Amino acid sequence: MFRKAFNTFKGGIHPSENKEITGTKEFSNLSIPQVSYIPLQQHIGKPAIPVVEIGDIVEEGQLIAKADGFISANVHSSVPGKVIEIAEYPTVYSKKGKCIVIEANGAFSSSGKTQEKILWDCLDREALLQSISDAGIVGMGGAAFPTSVKLSPPKDKKIDTLIINGAECEPYLTVDDMLMKTFAEDIIEGIRILLKVLNIDRAYIGIEKNKPYAAGNLRKSIEDKGLTDKITVVILKTKYPQGAEKQLIYSILKREVPSGGLPMEIGVVVQNVGTVFAVREAVVFGKPLFERFLTVTGKIVNRPGNYKVKIGTRISDIIEECGGLSEDPAKIIMGGPMCGITLFSDEVPVIKGTSGIIFLSDDEIPVEKYGPCIRCGRCVAACPTNLLPCDLGTAVETERYDIVELLNPFDCIMCSACSFVCPSRRPLSHFIKTAQEKLRKRKSA
Ligand code: SF4
Ligand code: SF4
Repeated sequence: MFRKAFNTFKGGIHPSENKEITGTKEFSNLSIPQVSYIPLQQHIGKPAIPVVEIGDIVEEGQLIAKADGFISANVHSSVPGKVIEIAEYPTVYSKKGKCIVIEANGAFSSSGKTQEKILWDCLDREALLQSISDAGIVGMGGAAFPTSVKLSPPKDKKIDTLIINGAECEPYLTVDDMLMKTFAEDIIEGIRILLKVLNIDRAYIGIEKNKPYAAGNLRKSIEDKGLTDKITVVILKTKYPQGAEKQLIYSILKREVPSGGLPMEIGVVVQNVGTVFAVREAVVFGKPLFERFLTVTGKIVNRPGNYKVKIGTRISDIIEECGGLSEDPAKIIMGGPMCGITLFSDEVPVIKGTSGIIFLSDDEIPVEKYGPCIRCGRCVAACPTNLLPCDLGTAVETERYDIVELLNPFDCIMCSACSFVCPSRRPLSHFIKTAQEKLRKRKSA
């Protein structure tokens, strides 16, 4: 089945898409870095614990750090070689994040080779979940929440629907679009695996209207496999933040996640399309998550594209591999420009949640000073979670945290739509993030 209505949510914005830079670039492999810096913290939860020592020889895909408890994830070597250091280096989450440093040397066990398929249909739910957990799969849209945990809701939460996030609403990024265009059949197999794990038979794939080929390919695969009664492609309005979890669920099912709640409370599990692909690789080929596809983009990148990259490859190596930059970047962002993280160094390595790397030039970043609120209301109209960003901003500026608390700051999904539309250039989402951090500290004090 192929639903044609352009489902959406209230609010949102329409930033320039800038997807034409890499939108038609097919996947290619970046070269293996000579030295990989593989962080122990690549996921939400506790960092993994190293199980190798300096001097150890490791294989591609070998477990090098074990999940520390339930909310954590295994980490694997992305290259064959020698562990030369376990030390602190810049990572996306910290200026001093612990990394296992591996010098590449030796033969690759899976890259470039045909793998034998595992007959996963014969496996039960627990065995499938174990494969996903062993492979260290986390949410690959950026959230990096351990996938096996998300697929194991408490018994009192009855799940009836799986939603696959193929919206890719962030400007510039095209990796999910290319995944859906290139690997539609594999993604459908991944969805079948997830349906079996969740013991349900209903899935929707949400795709923005600006990705007609991806939607067409997936629809064809669904029809070819006779799965039209189980999996439906839903075309969504092209609007940011269409891919935010709560907005995606509302757009497809018209169900609302309660304030402070999780999708499982309304019977839904959401997985990013890249995560589905990684789950399929883990279950069908026993392949851990040690490499991923991502977009490298920006008008100053000499060879922008969609690339397969080893986890632990530093941004500086990627710049070189992509033919260098035509000028020094004013800003490097990991993820999308709206929700991504601005990097403080090009020594930061790619992690499991890196969907893209964007290089922006000076003229792409307005550095005007922000002014006072003129009560135009644009931020209120743009906010997808019905907040009052203007009032929140003013309350934070004047340090009236008693007022901030009344304005539900924890419902903010940090989409930055409010900051984007503000004619006074007020950094509203930054104000709200500051408020969340202060209130959390106060509560834990
Ligand atoms: S207040 Fe939060 S959720 Fe609302 S637009 Fe701003 S950043 Fe997005
Ligand atoms: S968009 Fe900016 S100026 Fe307009 S109401 Fe919101 S904070 Fe005030």
